[in-house]
Amino acid sequence: MLKIYNTLTNQIELFKSHQDKKVNMYVCGPTVYGDIHLGNARPVIFFDVVKRYLKYLNYDVHFVSNITDIDDKIIEKAKQLKMSEKALTDTYTKKFINMTLSLGSVIPDQLPKATEFISQMIQYIEELIEQGVAYQTPSGVYFRVNKVSDYGILSKQNIDELTEGVRIDLESDKEDPRDFSIWKNTEDGLNFNSPWGNGRPGWHTECAVMNHEIFGEEIDIHGGGTDLKFPHHENEIAQTIAHDHHHLATYWMHVGRLDVDQIKMSKSLGNITLVKDLLEAYDPYAFRLLMVNHHYRQPINYSEDLMIQFAKEYDKIKRTLKKAFLMLSLEKISLNETDEEIMKEFESIMDDDFNIPNVLTLIYDILKQINKEKDLKRLSVLYQSVKTILEILGIMPLFQVEDEVLVMYRDWEHARNAKNFQLADELRDELNKRGWI
Ligand SMILES: [Zn+2]
Repeated sequence: MLKIYNTLTNQIELFKSHQDKKVNMYVCGPTVYGDIHLGNARPVIFFDVVKRYLKYLNYDVHFVSNITDIDDKIIEKAKQLKMSEKALTDTYTKKFINMTLSLGSVIPDQLPKATEFISQMIQYIEELIEQGVAYQTPSGVYFRVNKVSDYGILSKQNIDELTEGVRIDLESDKEDPRDFSIWKNTEDGLNFNSPWGNGRPGWHTECAVMNHEIFGEEIDIHGGGTDLKFPHHENEIAQTIAHDHHHLATYWMHVGRLDVDQIKMSKSLGNITLVKDLLEAYDPYAFRLLMVNHHYRQPINYSEDLMIQFAKEYDKIKRTLKKAFLMLSLEKISLNETDEEIMKEFESIMDDDFNIPNVLTLIYDILKQINKEKDLKRLSVLYQSVKTILEILGIMPLFQVEDEVLVMYRDWEHARNAKNFQLADELRDELNKRGWI
């Protein structure tokens, strides 16, 4: 039985979907104005594994991840580059999709763009105003935080103490410094008509409304990076409590941060490592292995040394599997059966809040057995088991053995039997060079 650490309750809870064998999942996606960095890649990889595992458990998963294509940073960048916001966000949306694929993740079932839901956002904001939980000022529309008794439920903050932490903006025309913007009146950059003047929606409102429009009810899992807990997710929840009387999702899952050489990645520090640069030097599956080998709730301290270490680890995994694949191909052994015990063990580890680092211990144990196994039937069962697991983690290498290699291997065997050592050595060297033995 799958158990998930729910950040809404700070407890490990038994996972129970709203509908039988169906999971609705939403993960906050990127603001598309630049290339994604290693920190952005972490949720892209982890929630892809979550989806794959839920599918393995026979759930029908509807996975939505939004694209924020309207934002102050987008407008700023579009001005700098002297291009339209749409041209900029289209470019980086495409790049994001390509990076997602390069990282070995499957594209979510839906990638809704904020600008496609503007009229629904306006209507939602009007409804919040009608209910008295939002109000209009000359600068836009704000959400009245003190109208929601559960405010602070996710970030575990007391609403009264929040006042001290909030920056008091003297220019602001908000009733209360804790209130957050749900519509910003502005004619700077891309803007839309609304009953309150031209402007654009607030980011927290975008996600709340897209969830409401796409799913229409409380979803099962809402995910994102831990840095989104406050204020973004807290404010998504506050609006949903006011508008729909639920917490948007039953299970909230947050992925830990990724630091580089023990320093938080940030533009101002100039220590951003881009995914595209990393993938020029390393196998994406080796990077994925590094990511999933850290528990998703723990921070990752990335370094080049760590990457090199995991590139070597992944090479070892690949080499063992490649040799086994050749042995099975030579005898035309079909792959269809997994080992029941191994798969049970795998499930019990994954069911424990996706404890993937322990799955990797299991994988190394199976690989050890594969290296020793002489019985081809047993080898195929071990191979198929580890293949099933690696496919769920999204790191199963794809092998194709050409007939030429099969012939070469047979010739090597014959040469050895015929004591033609010179030929045998030549063939062995060639097979070794190609990584097959
Ligand atoms: Zn969001």
